[in-house]
Amino acid sequence: MDKISYDVILQIQKRLNIVDVISEYLPLERKGKNYFAICPFHDDHNPSMSISPEKQIYTCFVCGASGNVFNFVMNYEKISFGQAVKKLAEKVGIKLNIADLKNATKRDDKLKKYYDIYDLVNKYYQNNLKSVYGKKATEYLHQRQISDEIIKEFDIGLSLNDNEVSKFLTSKGCDVNDLVELGISGFNGNFTYDVFHNRIMFPLYDLDGQVVGFSGRIYNGEKENKYLNSKESVVFKKGSLLYNYHRAINYARESKQIIVVEGFMDVIRLSCVGIKNVVATMGTAITKEHADLIRRLSKNVVLCFDGDAAGKKATTNAINVLEDIGIKPKIIRLEENLDPDEYVIKKKKEAFLTHLNNAMSVFDFKIDAEKERIDFNNYEDISSYVKSMAQELNEIKDPIVYELSVKKLSKETGVDASTINSFVANVPKKIGKIMDKPKQTSKSKYEKAQEYLIYYMLRNVDVIIMYQNNVAYLSNKLLSKIALEILDFYDQKHYINVTDFTIFLEDKTDLINEVLRIDSYDLPAKMTVNQIKDYIKTIDDGILKHEKEKIKRQISEETNVAKKIILLEKLAGLKKKECK
Ligand SMILES: [Zn+2]
Repeated sequence: MDKISYDVILQIQKRLNIVDVISEYLPLERKGKNYFAICPFHDDHNPSMSISPEKQIYTCFVCGASGNVFNFVMNYEKISFGQAVKKLAEKVGIKLNIADLKNATKRDDKLKKYYDIYDLVNKYYQNNLKSVYGKKATEYLHQRQISDEIIKEFDIGLSLNDNEVSKFLTSKGCDVNDLVELGISGFNGNFTYDVFHNRIMFPLYDLDGQVVGFSGRIYNGEKENKYLNSKESVVFKKGSLLYNYHRAINYARESKQIIVVEGFMDVIRLSCVGIKNVVATMGTAITKEHADLIRRLSKNVVLCFDGDAAGKKATTNAINVLEDIGIKPKIIRLEENLDPDEYVIKKKKEAFLTHLNNAMSVFDFKIDAEKERIDFNNYEDISSYVKSMAQELNEIKDPIVYELSVKKLSKETGVDASTINSFVANVPKKIGKIMDKPKQTSKSKYEKAQEYLIYYMLRNVDVIIMYQNNVAYLSNKLLSKIALEILDFYDQKHYINVTDFTIFLEDKTDLINEVLRIDSYDLPAKMTVNQIKDYIKTIDDGILKHEKEKIKRQISEETNVAKKIILLEKLAGLKKKECK
């Protein structure tokens, strides 16, 4: 197996700062010498993940997720270790050779069959649009100000009559059941028919840019649903996909901002006018999974949903889901109930950019949203309104933003700023669950000795050598594996430090988590040879004790006298060993 060498990976790591890398994915807060973030690997509501610039590692107090910069990118983006290395290598301008990359780009090919079918269909539809049959549809697209370039960029195609796609695919050897499963064809008991007829076809992609469905739009004025979407399938799940994710990823990182809209047409329209850091939720309510994906693109999120009442409701919902993972989005509300697609056609790009540059804060959005429900002649209404806004004010960290917001609320309601301030001061603090370390189950002295020995092996080569010469094995299987890896690392590299050792462990996540858990113990930096000898003695005692118990059990169960005697002799031997 071709592998990227440890030395190359280490070279890449030395040029990176884990704080910078993680801050591209998560908002970070500095506390003392470390940084903290809402952990993306468990359902976290308080910053439980700490990032150490000194050690270049991250650890979550609650779920135990931990590792180096490669592990973070690998686990966050759900890619292989090799892919993460490749990605970060590009970032620091290190070229990996071809052999290095061989396994870095492997793809789950269980679903390959389905992807291949969609590739075929996609090309088929695109050809239709380019053919004589596509003349009218192309005219329609041009009339909607969608250029040939955009048609190409978004792989727009056309479905025709006569069940041509089903015929074409079955002639290529595709299984009818697969076509039905994917929502490309239907089967009525007698024959297979196309699901899409005479529609402009917009492919929908998964996160890697692979086509996994379609949305078909009518264009010649028939009385049917304007849009028809592929049904959900094994590869197409709306709740876990964002339209245009694979293209927006680079634009979002360049512009350090991601715009979230509702429909794929909004994405295409904004792309027509050069705004390309845009993804769409495809009409479903935003899910936790969506929110996690959005956060991967940028922590600066702008929500631009449809201008109607439903869009407003969807915005409120999206704010809640995003705030849960530590993101405070900005909000655009388009006038005249327009969606972004209609808006850009009607009001032009500049008007949209004005909105974008003046996007509202969550506070302003909520002020507006709450205001509509308030009767300003009713003092009790005003009181409850001010109280609910005090909650929002309490979360504003920037003192200037805070002051301006208080002034605004004061002006809106006629309530004095000092009164509002006193309300804010009395908002019960959201005391997060205190960041407690996971409950230490009480460990036996034998377990502890093994962990402490590993702790010092991770710091001192002399301890590694003592281990090598004096310890037969560790009874804890995970720790035993770690000890072997340490020996292997030391054998090859002739030194030890925790961070480099985690790089050596690559994607062995369970080992890395355990190594960093033990590493986080607060043991004295200084240790003596006698102390290590004590650990080794305790470990040996533990093994002996375990052996003795095993033999005693065997003795009590043994009925054959001769065999029993052998076991008793064995036990006596062990006892003698113990006394030494
Ligand atoms: Zn966690």
